[in-house]
Formats: sequence, structure tokens, C-alpha cells
Amino acid sequence: MQFDVTILGINGAIPAYNRHPSAQVVTYNGQNFLVDCGEGTQLQMNRYGIKRGKLDNIFISHLHGDHYFGLIGLISSFHLNYRTAPLHIYGPQGLDEIINAHLKWSQTLLRYEIYFHPLSANKPKVIFEDDLLSVETILLKHRLPTTGFLFREKGGRRNMRRDKIQEYNLQVDDILRIKDGGDYVTPDGKTILNSELTSAPRPPRSYAYCCDTLYNEDMLEQIRGVDLLYHDSTFAEEHKERAEETMHTTAKNAGVIAEKANANQLLLGHFSARYENLEVLLNEAKSVFPNTKLAAEGETFPVGLD
Ligand SMILES: [Zn+2]
Ligand SMILES: [Zn+2]
Repeated sequence: MQFDVTILGINGAIPAYNRHPSAQVVTYNGQNFLVDCGEGTQLQMNRYGIKRGKLDNIFISHLHGDHYFGLIGLISSFHLNYRTAPLHIYGPQGLDEIINAHLKWSQTLLRYEIYFHPLSANKPKVIFEDDLLSVETILLKHRLPTTGFLFREKGGRRNMRRDKIQEYNLQVDDILRIKDGGDYVTPDGKTILNSELTSAPRPPRSYAYCCDTLYNEDMLEQIRGVDLLYHDSTFAEEHKERAEETMHTTAKNAGVIAEKANANQLLLGHFSARYENLEVLLNEAKSVFPNTKLAAEGETFPVGLD
């Protein structure tokens, strides 16, 4: 089942060197989730073929403009495109006031409903859930109340073994019972245990978005073993003090978090406009966590193995 992340914006604070502010789309089983919505997000969606119609959930990490200045434009385009499906927006308290002020003063009566879900920056919480996937908040340390997002696939059911279907000549009813965890009793009364008839499900995959944040060990337990970690890596080591002042992380410390969390892969993002060439950030992170990549706009990164 598809589970990946398409990057739309990788810069912090201001656009530079053709890099845009934070935005990305997590796709799971054909459903798109927008995470942050910096200026230019709509244009980036057009550029990289992300369909607006398949987007019902938007997650905003915090209210620094580089993470949401594209949101009003997107809300407006949905309206102009005759959207009728409800839109769910998860974000910090106050974002609803900002949106409503825009709508009020432009005298816009939307053709669709917005359901606003205020996020608490005090306690991690599951904020979205369906049969296959959950999204929970991660508490981050930044100058404003800020949450990251952990997308976690739900544990799959055990898989029916094809060879056993043939061996016991199983019928549809038998297979459904076995898939629900039942054993099988043969016509001559012998019980075949479920564990013999099925194989273990694939381990569930997970993706963590941690931006913006100071180096933060408090979240390690929550993101332990994550398949893919996108982490704030605004600065290189030479600007470590600046990272602390502005409550961001250096690329090297993003590597330390990935290492300590036992992540499988690290994606660096939220780059400062002071770096035209990002190799220094990549190399510093790789010195502590080799399986690191630079996030790149328009690129899609798979979450774990399908
Ligand atoms: Zn930012
Ligand atoms: Zn910020």
C-alpha cells in the first residue's frame, strides 16, 4: 500500500535559491495529507501534480508565517473550484481566527465547511484516525506553541497462506473466519491452529515530521523506530548559537536525534537562506547518522518498505 512523502517546500523563514517555505504531502493509500502550507504551496502542488480534490486534511505545525502563509490562498482556490467536500484543518489555537478574518473582510461565504481542530502543545494526542492510519501530535520546543506529526500505519492482520487454502481446500467462509483469527476444524474433526494457516503481517510503517524545533530529546520515546524522520536542520554547526537563539536544530543534531530514536532514515529540511549549497548540512548530519538525505522539492520519499 502506498505510503510516501512528496516535498513541496524545504526552506525556513524566507524563500531563497528557488527553495520554498515548508510544505509537504503525505500520501497513504491514495489519500493526501498536507503538512504545513507555506507561501507558494498551491503553485508547488500544480507543479508536481498533487491533486487538490483528494485533499481533505491539512496539518499546520505552528503560526510562523513560513508554515501557513499559503493556506488562505488554498482555501480560496477550493472555493473558486466549487469544492463541496468538508475540509479538516488541524492547527494551533488562533489559526481559525486568522482564517475567519480573511473570509469576513473579503466577504467570502465558502461553498464548503471547514472543521477546525485546535491542537494542544501540552500533550501528545491522536488527532486523526481511520481503519488503516493514525496521526498523533508530537510536542516540539519552539518560540511558539508547535507540534510535529507522527503518521502511523495500523498493525495489519495476519495473512492467509495460499498453500494452506489448497492443502485444506478452504472455502470463502473458512478463509474469512481464519482472517479474523479463528482456527480451522477439518471435516474429520482435527483442529488446525490459526498460526499454522497464516503468516505474520508486515510491521506497520511510520513517518515523523518534526519542524520547527530546538534539539529535543523529550520526543525520542514517541518516535522510536520510526521509518522516516523529517527533522528541522536549519543551521550548520558554525551557526550553532543562532540555532539555539531561534529555537532550531543544527543538521548534526538532527542526526543525533535520528540515531538516538533508532530511526531508519533521516530527511533534512527547513534550511536557512544563508546556505546556497546544502552539502555542508548533509555532511554534518551524515557524520552521526549515515542514512540521511536532503529533502528536495518535487521528490517523493517512500516511508519504509512496501
Ligand atoms: Zn519555520
Ligand atoms: Zn518557526
